[in-house]
Amino acid sequence: NHPKQRLPKWLKRNVPKGNANHFTQSLLEELQLETVCDSAKCPNRMECYSQKTATFMILGNVCTRACSFCSVPRGKPEELSGDEPERLAEAAYRLGLKHVVITSVTRDDLPDGGADHYIRCIAAVRERTGATVEVLTPDFIHCRDALDRIIVEASPDVFNHNTETVPRLYKRVRGVTSDYAWTLGLLKRVKELNPKVKTKSGLMLGLGETHDEVFAVLEDLLAHDVDFLTLGQYLQPDEKRYLKVERYVTPEEFEMFGRKSKEMGFKQVASGPFVRSSYHARDMAEAY
Ligand code: SF4
Ligand code: SF4
Repeated sequence: NHPKQRLPKWLKRNVPKGNANHFTQSLLEELQLETVCDSAKCPNRMECYSQKTATFMILGNVCTRACSFCSVPRGKPEELSGDEPERLAEAAYRLGLKHVVITSVTRDDLPDGGADHYIRCIAAVRERTGATVEVLTPDFIHCRDALDRIIVEASPDVFNHNTETVPRLYKRVRGVTSDYAWTLGLLKRVKELNPKVKTKSGLMLGLGETHDEVFAVLEDLLAHDVDFLTLGQYLQPDEKRYLKVERYVTPEEFEMFGRKSKEMGFKQVASGPFVRSSYHARDMAEAY
Protein backbone atom coordinates (compact mmCIF):
# COMPACT_ATOMS: atom_id res chain seq x y z
CA ASN A 1 0.00 0.00 0.00
CA HIS A 2 2.64 2.51 -0.97
CA PRO A 3 1.25 6.07 -1.17
CA LYS A 4 2.40 6.35 -4.80
CA GLN A 5 0.04 3.52 -5.81
CA ARG A 6 -2.89 5.54 -4.57
CA LEU A 7 -2.06 8.65 -6.60
CA PRO A 8 -5.07 9.87 -8.58
CA LYS A 9 -4.64 9.93 -12.36
CA TRP A 10 -4.13 13.70 -12.58
CA LEU A 11 -0.97 13.41 -10.49
CA LYS A 12 0.71 10.99 -12.89
CA ARG A 13 2.78 12.80 -15.45
CA ASN A 14 4.97 12.17 -18.43
CA VAL A 15 8.64 12.85 -17.94
CA PRO A 16 9.99 15.16 -20.65
CA LYS A 17 13.11 13.90 -22.39
CA GLY A 18 16.07 15.93 -23.58
CA ASN A 19 19.57 17.18 -23.01
CA ALA A 20 18.68 20.40 -21.23
CA ASN A 21 17.80 18.47 -18.09
CA HIS A 22 21.22 16.83 -18.12
CA PHE A 23 22.90 20.19 -18.80
CA THR A 24 21.26 21.79 -15.76
CA GLN A 25 22.04 18.84 -13.52
CA SER A 26 25.74 18.75 -14.44
CA LEU A 27 26.12 22.50 -14.14
CA LEU A 28 24.70 22.38 -10.61
CA GLU A 29 27.10 19.57 -9.75
CA GLU A 30 30.10 21.35 -11.27
CA LEU A 31 29.38 24.54 -9.35
CA GLN A 32 28.41 22.62 -6.22
CA LEU A 33 25.10 24.35 -5.83
CA GLU A 34 22.06 23.14 -3.97
CA THR A 35 18.57 23.43 -5.37
CA VAL A 36 15.35 23.08 -3.48
CA CYS A 37 14.17 21.16 -6.53
CA ASP A 38 16.47 18.29 -5.50
CA SER A 39 16.45 18.74 -1.73
CA ALA A 40 12.67 18.85 -1.49
CA LYS A 41 12.29 16.22 -4.25
CA CYS A 42 10.01 18.51 -6.24
CA PRO A 43 7.83 16.61 -8.74
CA ASN A 44 8.49 19.27 -11.41
CA ARG A 45 12.27 18.76 -11.50
CA MET A 46 12.46 17.18 -14.94
CA GLU A 47 10.22 19.81 -16.46
CA CYS A 48 11.98 22.78 -14.86
CA TYR A 49 15.49 21.47 -15.50
CA SER A 50 14.65 20.80 -19.12
CA GLN A 51 13.53 24.41 -19.38
CA LYS A 52 16.82 25.43 -17.74
CA THR A 53 15.25 26.77 -14.60
CA ALA A 54 15.90 25.88 -11.00
CA THR A 55 15.41 27.35 -7.56
CA PHE A 56 18.76 27.77 -5.87
CA MET A 57 18.99 26.97 -2.19
CA ILE A 58 21.61 28.99 -0.34
CA LEU A 59 23.02 28.97 3.20
CA GLY A 60 23.88 25.25 3.02
CA ASN A 61 21.73 22.15 2.76
CA VAL A 62 21.01 21.54 6.43
CA CYS A 63 18.09 23.31 8.09
CA THR A 64 17.76 24.25 11.76
CA ARG A 65 13.99 23.66 11.63
CA ALA A 66 12.09 20.44 11.07
CA CYS A 67 8.80 21.20 9.31
CA SER A 68 6.79 17.99 9.10
CA PHE A 69 6.18 18.24 5.34
CA CYS A 70 9.72 19.02 4.21
CA SER A 71 12.48 16.60 3.25
CA VAL A 72 15.37 19.07 3.42
CA PRO A 73 17.92 17.53 5.84
CA ARG A 74 17.86 18.99 9.33
CA GLY A 75 20.51 19.24 12.02
CA LYS A 76 23.61 21.25 12.73
CA PRO A 77 24.53 23.32 9.65
CA GLU A 78 28.03 23.61 8.24
CA GLU A 79 29.99 26.84 7.88
CA LEU A 80 28.80 29.26 5.21
CA SER A 81 30.56 29.06 1.89
CA GLY A 82 32.04 32.49 1.12
CA ASP A 83 32.07 32.11 -2.67
CA GLU A 84 28.52 30.79 -3.00
CA PRO A 85 27.20 34.15 -4.33
CA GLU A 86 29.70 34.04 -7.23
CA ARG A 87 29.01 30.36 -7.97
CA LEU A 88 25.30 31.05 -7.95
CA ALA A 89 25.68 34.02 -10.28
CA GLU A 90 27.83 31.92 -12.62
CA ALA A 91 25.17 29.19 -12.81
CA ALA A 92 22.41 31.72 -13.47
CA TYR A 93 24.54 33.26 -16.22
CA ARG A 94 25.38 29.97 -17.90
CA LEU A 95 21.75 28.85 -17.75
CA GLY A 96 20.75 32.12 -19.37
CA LEU A 97 18.18 32.82 -16.64
CA LYS A 98 16.16 36.00 -16.86
CA HIS A 99 14.45 35.49 -13.51
CA VAL A 100 16.36 33.86 -10.68
CA VAL A 101 14.65 32.35 -7.66
CA ILE A 102 16.74 32.09 -4.51
CA THR A 103 15.56 30.28 -1.42
CA SER A 104 17.35 28.98 1.65
CA VAL A 105 17.21 26.72 4.62
CA THR A 106 16.42 28.43 7.93
CA ARG A 107 19.57 29.38 9.82
CA ASP A 108 18.44 30.15 13.36
CA ASP A 109 22.09 29.66 14.38
CA LEU A 110 23.38 32.71 12.47
CA PRO A 111 23.21 36.04 14.35
CA ASP A 112 22.07 37.87 11.18
CA GLY A 113 19.68 35.09 10.13
CA GLY A 114 21.63 34.80 6.86
CA ALA A 115 20.78 38.36 5.73
CA ASP A 116 24.32 39.24 4.64
CA HIS A 117 24.55 36.16 2.48
CA TYR A 118 21.16 36.80 0.87
CA ILE A 119 22.19 40.37 0.08
CA ARG A 120 25.48 39.24 -1.47
CA CYS A 121 23.74 36.56 -3.55
CA ILE A 122 21.15 39.00 -4.91
CA ALA A 123 23.85 41.54 -5.78
CA ALA A 124 26.10 38.95 -7.46
CA VAL A 125 23.28 37.55 -9.61
CA ARG A 126 22.14 41.00 -10.70
CA GLU A 127 25.64 42.11 -11.55
CA ARG A 128 26.51 39.01 -13.56
CA THR A 129 23.18 38.48 -15.34
CA GLY A 130 20.93 41.53 -15.13
CA ALA A 131 18.13 39.11 -14.24
CA THR A 132 15.23 39.92 -11.96
CA VAL A 133 15.52 38.23 -8.58
CA GLU A 134 12.88 36.55 -6.46
CA VAL A 135 13.66 35.46 -2.92
CA LEU A 136 11.69 32.82 -1.06
CA THR A 137 12.77 33.30 2.51
CA PRO A 138 12.35 31.69 5.93
CA ASP A 139 10.22 33.48 8.55
CA PHE A 140 13.22 35.11 10.33
CA ILE A 141 11.25 34.74 13.56
CA HIS A 142 14.45 34.91 15.62
CA CYS A 143 15.91 37.78 13.62
CA ARG A 144 13.34 40.26 12.31
CA ASP A 145 16.13 42.60 11.35
CA ALA A 146 17.12 40.16 8.58
CA LEU A 147 13.97 40.93 6.60
CA ASP A 148 14.45 44.69 6.89
CA ARG A 149 18.05 44.43 5.75
CA ILE A 150 17.27 42.26 2.73
CA ILE A 151 14.45 44.55 1.57
CA VAL A 152 16.27 47.82 2.22
CA GLU A 153 19.76 46.82 1.11
CA ALA A 154 19.01 44.43 -1.76
CA SER A 155 15.48 45.29 -2.86
CA PRO A 156 14.57 41.98 -4.56
CA ASP A 157 12.01 42.22 -7.37
CA VAL A 158 9.73 39.67 -5.73
CA PHE A 159 9.59 38.71 -2.06
CA ASN A 160 8.00 35.34 -1.45
CA HIS A 161 7.24 33.79 1.91
CA ASN A 162 4.91 30.82 2.06
CA THR A 163 1.93 30.72 4.38
CA GLU A 164 1.92 26.94 3.72
CA THR A 165 -1.38 26.13 5.46
CA VAL A 166 -4.36 27.43 7.43
CA PRO A 167 -3.85 28.72 11.01
CA ARG A 168 -5.57 25.71 12.65
CA LEU A 169 -2.87 23.39 11.24
CA TYR A 170 0.09 25.73 11.67
CA LYS A 171 1.97 24.15 14.56
CA ARG A 172 1.46 20.65 13.21
CA VAL A 173 2.69 21.52 9.73
CA ARG A 174 5.24 24.28 10.25
CA GLY A 175 6.48 23.38 13.73
CA VAL A 176 6.15 24.82 17.21
CA THR A 177 7.95 28.09 16.56
CA SER A 178 5.72 29.01 13.62
CA ASP A 179 3.16 31.77 13.96
CA TYR A 180 0.45 32.63 11.42
CA ALA A 181 0.19 36.28 12.50
CA TRP A 182 3.96 36.62 12.18
CA THR A 183 3.86 35.33 8.60
CA LEU A 184 1.17 37.86 7.66
CA GLY A 185 3.09 40.64 9.40
CA LEU A 186 6.27 39.72 7.54
CA LEU A 187 4.54 40.04 4.16
CA LYS A 188 2.97 43.36 5.10
CA ARG A 189 6.28 44.70 6.38
CA VAL A 190 7.88 44.25 2.96
CA LYS A 191 5.33 46.62 1.42
CA GLU A 192 5.82 49.12 4.23
CA LEU A 193 9.56 49.10 3.62
CA ASN A 194 9.35 49.24 -0.16
CA PRO A 195 6.00 49.24 -1.96
CA LYS A 196 7.74 48.45 -5.26
CA VAL A 197 8.69 44.94 -4.16
CA LYS A 198 6.05 42.43 -5.27
CA THR A 199 4.93 40.12 -2.50
CA LYS A 200 3.95 36.52 -3.00
CA SER A 201 2.75 33.65 -0.84
CA GLY A 202 1.50 30.13 -1.25
CA LEU A 203 -0.37 27.29 0.37
CA MET A 204 -0.19 23.53 0.08
CA LEU A 205 -3.64 21.98 -0.09
CA GLY A 206 -4.63 18.49 0.96
CA LEU A 207 -3.53 18.70 4.60
CA GLY A 208 -7.04 18.63 6.08
CA GLU A 209 -8.01 22.28 5.57
CA THR A 210 -11.59 23.20 4.61
CA HIS A 211 -12.54 25.45 1.71
CA ASP A 212 -13.75 28.11 4.15
CA GLU A 213 -10.43 28.04 5.97
CA VAL A 214 -8.57 28.51 2.68
CA PHE A 215 -10.75 31.46 1.71
CA ALA A 216 -10.19 33.04 5.14
CA VAL A 217 -6.41 32.83 4.58
CA LEU A 218 -6.78 34.38 1.12
CA GLU A 219 -8.73 37.30 2.67
CA ASP A 220 -5.96 37.73 5.25
CA LEU A 221 -3.24 37.71 2.59
CA LEU A 222 -5.05 40.36 0.57
CA ALA A 223 -5.57 42.44 3.72
CA HIS A 224 -1.77 42.30 4.11
CA ASP A 225 -1.19 43.52 0.54
CA VAL A 226 0.03 40.27 -0.99
CA ASP A 227 0.20 40.50 -4.80
CA PHE A 228 0.79 36.94 -6.07
CA LEU A 229 -0.62 33.62 -4.90
CA THR A 230 0.33 29.99 -5.49
CA LEU A 231 -1.83 26.99 -4.54
CA GLY A 232 -0.61 23.42 -5.03
CA GLN A 233 -1.20 19.86 -3.81
CA TYR A 234 0.85 18.68 -0.84
CA LEU A 235 2.68 15.45 -1.65
CA GLN A 236 4.27 13.36 1.07
CA PRO A 237 8.00 12.84 0.61
CA ASP A 238 8.69 9.10 0.40
CA GLU A 239 9.51 8.36 4.01
CA LYS A 240 6.67 7.66 6.41
CA ARG A 241 7.86 10.18 9.00
CA TYR A 242 6.45 13.09 7.00
CA LEU A 243 2.87 14.33 7.22
CA LYS A 244 0.33 12.22 5.38
CA VAL A 245 -1.77 13.57 2.55
CA GLU A 246 -5.30 13.92 3.91
CA ARG A 247 -6.89 14.43 0.54
CA TYR A 248 -6.09 14.88 -3.13
CA VAL A 249 -7.69 18.13 -4.21
CA THR A 250 -9.20 17.75 -7.69
CA PRO A 251 -8.08 19.81 -10.70
CA GLU A 252 -11.61 21.28 -10.78
CA GLU A 253 -11.23 22.54 -7.20
CA PHE A 254 -7.85 24.07 -8.03
CA GLU A 255 -9.44 25.76 -11.00
CA MET A 256 -12.23 27.11 -8.78
CA PHE A 257 -9.73 28.39 -6.18
CA GLY A 258 -7.68 30.00 -8.96
CA ARG A 259 -10.68 31.76 -10.47
CA LYS A 260 -12.03 32.98 -7.14
CA SER A 261 -8.62 34.19 -5.96
CA LYS A 262 -8.35 36.36 -9.06
CA GLU A 263 -11.84 37.72 -8.44
CA MET A 264 -10.90 38.46 -4.84
CA GLY A 265 -8.05 40.67 -5.99
CA PHE A 266 -4.74 38.78 -6.32
CA LYS A 267 -2.77 40.19 -9.24
CA GLN A 268 -1.31 36.86 -10.32
CA VAL A 269 -2.45 33.37 -9.35
CA ALA A 270 -1.10 29.91 -10.08
CA SER A 271 -3.37 27.15 -8.82
CA GLY A 272 -3.04 23.49 -9.77
CA PRO A 273 -1.99 20.10 -8.42
CA PHE A 274 1.68 20.54 -9.43
CA VAL A 275 2.04 24.21 -8.62
CA ARG A 276 4.91 25.01 -6.26
CA SER A 277 5.86 28.47 -5.10
CA SER A 278 8.63 28.69 -7.69
CA TYR A 279 6.77 26.95 -10.53
CA HIS A 280 6.76 29.20 -13.61
CA ALA A 281 7.91 32.04 -11.35
CA ARG A 282 9.26 34.04 -14.24
CA ASP A 283 5.92 34.02 -16.09
CA MET A 284 4.20 35.26 -12.97
CA ALA A 285 6.70 38.02 -12.28
CA GLU A 286 6.75 39.18 -15.88
CA ALA A 287 3.01 39.09 -16.44
CA TYR A 288 2.44 41.77 -13.89
FE1 SF4 B 1 12.47 23.64 -8.72
FE2 SF4 B 1 10.38 25.22 -8.31
FE3 SF4 B 1 10.60 23.84 -10.57
FE4 SF4 B 1 10.07 22.58 -8.30
S1 SF4 B 1 8.76 24.04 -9.32
S2 SF4 B 1 11.57 21.94 -9.84
S3 SF4 B 1 11.27 23.76 -6.84
S4 SF4 B 1 11.97 25.47 -9.89
FE1 SF4 C 1 12.11 22.83 5.05
FE2 SF4 C 1 12.08 25.50 5.13
FE3 SF4 C 1 10.97 24.07 7.10
FE4 SF4 C 1 13.62 24.16 6.81
S1 SF4 C 1 12.27 25.88 7.33
S2 SF4 C 1 12.40 22.32 7.24
S3 SF4 C 1 13.83 24.20 4.58
S4 SF4 C 1 10.28 24.17 4.95
